[in-house]
Amino acid sequence: MTGSPTWQAVIGLEVHAQLRTQTKIFCGCAVRFGSPANTDVCPVCLGLPGALPVLNAAAVQMAVRTGLALGCTIQAVSVFSRKNYFYPDLPKGYQISQGDQPICLGGQLQIGRGDHAKSARIERIHLEEDAGKSLHGVGPGGQTGVDLNRAGTPLLEIVGKPDLSTPQEAAEYVEELRAILVHLGVCDGNLEQGSLRCDANVSVHRPGEPLGIRCEIKNMNSYRNIRDAVAYEIERQTEVLVHGGVIVQQTRLWNPDQGRTEPMRSKENANDYRYFPEPDLMPLRVQAAEIALARQALPELPSEIRQRLQGDYGLSEGVARWLVEEPQRVRGYERQLALGGAADLGASELPSMFANFLMSQVNAAWVRSQRPWADVDAALDTLWTLGQQWREGQLSNKMLAQVLTQAFTSLNSLGDSLKTAQAAAGAVVSDVQALREAVATVIGNFPKEVERYRGGQVQIAGFFVGQVMRVLGGKGDAKRIGMLVHEALTQ
Ligand code: ADP
Ligand code: MG
Ligand code: ZN
Repeated sequence: MTGSPTWQAVIGLEVHAQLRTQTKIFCGCAVRFGSPANTDVCPVCLGLPGALPVLNAAAVQMAVRTGLALGCTIQAVSVFSRKNYFYPDLPKGYQISQGDQPICLGGQLQIGRGDHAKSARIERIHLEEDAGKSLHGVGPGGQTGVDLNRAGTPLLEIVGKPDLSTPQEAAEYVEELRAILVHLGVCDGNLEQGSLRCDANVSVHRPGEPLGIRCEIKNMNSYRNIRDAVAYEIERQTEVLVHGGVIVQQTRLWNPDQGRTEPMRSKENANDYRYFPEPDLMPLRVQAAEIALARQALPELPSEIRQRLQGDYGLSEGVARWLVEEPQRVRGYERQLALGGAADLGASELPSMFANFLMSQVNAAWVRSQRPWADVDAALDTLWTLGQQWREGQLSNKMLAQVLTQAFTSLNSLGDSLKTAQAAAGAVVSDVQALREAVATVIGNFPKEVERYRGGQVQIAGFFVGQVMRVLGGKGDAKRIGMLVHEALTQ
């Protein structure tokens, strides 16, 4: 019933970002992945009685940077509170978080493209600590263990206003927020590994009426999951309401295998947590001078980089978005343009050709290979040359695909293996005599198609080019073949 005109969805997202600090938010333990269980711990993050928290200044700076990038007001004074609940991965019995006095208030995030552009408001951003992890089935009798390495990792919670109305907008919101966080260097942005986690609040109402009862959905670790889970939930709630039912406020889990959300627990209210100010920490004060410095140090933001690339090089929105998604990707691209003589490139097609080449041809091979982007980054000069040769027809589509596949699956450096693979692929057949012969053979083999072409179906020229390519084992110069086919058929 997603199409129902009388019911409209309302979505508000809460995003948790793990901050890339060296140490935890209230102690000196290292923040890192992959240590043996319970080795990056101390009395503070184990929650031993009498241990005292000390706030990590780097986490505060990252919160300030993020707040400024999102247009928030940084609060001169904010307050840490205890959020009390019981769970095995929370040894203190409370999480130190910020309640009604968070570090950032207000702000907005621009999402959507073209006609769908929209500003989604941010409600607040606050600092808090992460909990540990339950490890199920690790004991000798299959018992659950607890790993507290993650306990005390600094988190930034970014709470959005309920300004979104479609699953697509929800995914775009997370995508744009992620891009900003990784460009600021405050989070590694890995949705799959959970260093960026998103909860979606979804309700449905009739426009003009008060907002409906919401459900909060957890456990979505990809854009695809976010879109699917929100779409499912909108449909589920609409279905209930259309039949005169009521929505029960709940926390629900997305089950990607079943493709549905499932009830997890009835939603708790803020007062269930018995928030009270953390007595072991002073109120957090951020000086105006500190904020001014942070503002000056802000890097160019994703939307600004995209605009510049689109304006300077004529990149399409989609390609610019793809490049800017990862800071390393766009930096390498711009570095390569500079090496290739960017000053003279502005007006030429090369920058946009190279960007398209990376996004379409190179990216597919890279994704399949599961190599780090750093490998591509180190081979950009070779790819720059390869892209131009392909573009000029010195390399056919088939040869390019072969070269890329071969190079990406080799264990050597990508740059070297690209060169080796290209040498092995040999040169494209562009000798006019050889091409004419192949064209003549194909024309002789398909008299009916020739008749159809001459009868006005000129679009089947592509068929002849494909056949000539086949005769030449995929190694023909496609541009020349196209001209020769045309020449031969119009004689
Ligand atoms: P809580 O503290 O219980 O999580 P908040 O009032 O802080 O509740 O809201 C949390 C999130 O829920 C915010 O992202 C907000 O945009 C969203 N939200 C609030 N009301 C609704 C609603 N009726 N429909 C959808 N989302 C909502
Ligand atoms: Mg919440
Ligand atoms: Zn510790």
